[in-house]
Amino acid sequence: NEQALRPLRLVDLAPATAPLDVVSPPPVPLVDGRRVPYANLDYAASAPAVRAAAEAVAELLPRYTAVHRGAGWLSTECTRAYERARGEVAAFLGCRPDDQVIFTKHTTESVNLLASALPPRTRVVAFDSEHHANLLPWPDLVRLPAPASPRAAVASIGAALAVLGDDAPVLIAVTGASNVTGELFPVADITRLAHRFGARVFLDAAQLAPHRPIDVAALGVDYVAFSGHKLYAPFGCGVLAGRSDWLDAAPPHLAGGGASALVGDATCDVTWRTGPARHEGGSPNVIGAVALGAVCAELGATDWQRLVDEEDALRRRLATGLARIDGVRQLHLFGADSPRVGTVAFIVDGWSAGLVAAVLSAEHGVGVRDGLFCAHPLTRRLVHEAGGDPSTTQAVRASVGLGTTVDDVDRLIAGVARLVGKGP
Ligand code: PLP
Repeated sequence: NEQALRPLRLVDLAPATAPLDVVSPPPVPLVDGRRVPYANLDYAASAPAVRAAAEAVAELLPRYTAVHRGAGWLSTECTRAYERARGEVAAFLGCRPDDQVIFTKHTTESVNLLASALPPRTRVVAFDSEHHANLLPWPDLVRLPAPASPRAAVASIGAALAVLGDDAPVLIAVTGASNVTGELFPVADITRLAHRFGARVFLDAAQLAPHRPIDVAALGVDYVAFSGHKLYAPFGCGVLAGRSDWLDAAPPHLAGGGASALVGDATCDVTWRTGPARHEGGSPNVIGAVALGAVCAELGATDWQRLVDEEDALRRRLATGLARIDGVRQLHLFGADSPRVGTVAFIVDGWSAGLVAAVLSAEHGVGVRDGLFCAHPLTRRLVHEAGGDPSTTQAVRASVGLGTTVDDVDRLIAGVARLVGKGP
């Protein structure tokens, strides 16, 4: 019967109309038995899929195969789609013509890949405020204290570069936006300065890419990485893009089929490919890459100014609403007025972050994140500096994106107000 033959629908696409409309989950249950629309304020962890991504998955899932391996129709079509996605990512990032775009699993893998591709004796310089993914993979790391302002960030890197000199390669590894506070880092200034010293720059764009247009060529950064699951695409596909020379000289990230051009009879007798294939050993995540490419193409064609303005209005509403509640303290690295993406981190006097998040979820259907956000040194410091109840050691983080509504934000504010006894 026709019902049985209908293809499996993984997602309900009915409510979404435009390619950048978010695919929403069904209403969520509260402790009192009511069901309410889910107020997802956890975009900084993972963003919900947009229609363009869901459609790409739904289209490819019934008919996909490994790429770069065969001449059959399906193989050729999938290879074409995979390489088209690479082009869409390159265009989205504004890459230079000779930059490589390598598909990885996520930002963490991208950083690990670049870390294993550094020329011998390379020193990496990064602030303490980085996400662990941009701290822990680097060998020979010079850790600078988290800066107190964008200007201090540039000065601190300048001082480090002057001390390090130019007798060995130097890479500055910096985030575009803090995953804790959302604050923007002065990437263009840092890059200009680094290049004057002959150093290279890696931009961790995991938090930046979903909220601001990125132009690698204009910024001048040498490498950039981001994760598909924070950019409205599925889990399992990320990107490392940038200059070819270090990447082509490095050992393959994953040795195996695809990465090798010619294997002799002795196992050590291997000619490795150059270009992205060198680091994409094994059968790659075609569906993830195509979905990510589809989102990049849509976002690349969107009116960023409108997106930024809408997100900023929601972020300001959130920050202003929380600021009116006694005992709620927001976390800032550079200061409350510093430009940032749609992220607000805060603590509530007398309440553990875990309990705040649990109550927001159970009683209000609001999803936020709590903890130290994989940036332990920074979050510990900011929680301490925010003052308040000394037993508070962790924070709550709310973050907005495409599809966030005023109602989502107001429910969070009302939920926190009620928790501290100031609300209805
Ligand atoms: N860098 C930043 C700034 C992040 O916010 C994150 C994730 O939260 C990462 C890197 C790591 O991303 P992933 O877990 O997708 O590898």
